[in-house]
Amino acid sequence: MDCIFCNIAAGKIPSDILYQDEKVVAFRDVNPQAPVHLLVIPRKHIGQLSELTEKDTPLIGHMIEVANQLAKREGIAESGYRLVINSGKEGGQLVPHLHLHVLGKRQLSGRLG
Ligand code: AMP
Repeated sequence: MDCIFCNIAAGKIPSDILYQDEKVVAFRDVNPQAPVHLLVIPRKHIGQLSELTEKDTPLIGHMIEVANQLAKREGIAESGYRLVINSGKEGGQLVPHLHLHVLGKRQLSGRLG
């Protein structure tokens, strides 16, 4: 399948990879919305939140754990950060491969949407 994030995970498209293991890959967002803007993706193709099954629950926990570790490494663990998953058209999702945004190092608005 011609999925940009599958291709990043497979190393076929270059990206600024910060962490990878057998389950997930994390890299810097190419169009950052904050001084720290990372993406954590599952290696396996999951289109959006609604496609998750109960079997994926440990995977989502692992994605959050990796995000938290990277937040520490980027120096935003104490100042604060935001984890976001956009899902589907009205959820503002542009890339149809599940991804967790990690945003920080600036004051983010308290409002959603
Ligand atoms: P979303 O709107 O939640 O689907 O967000 C998709 C994100 O992927 C955006 O923040 C884009 O800037 C980012 N993005 C798209 N292509 C790439 C790429 N090749 N490398 C890194 N980030 C990308």
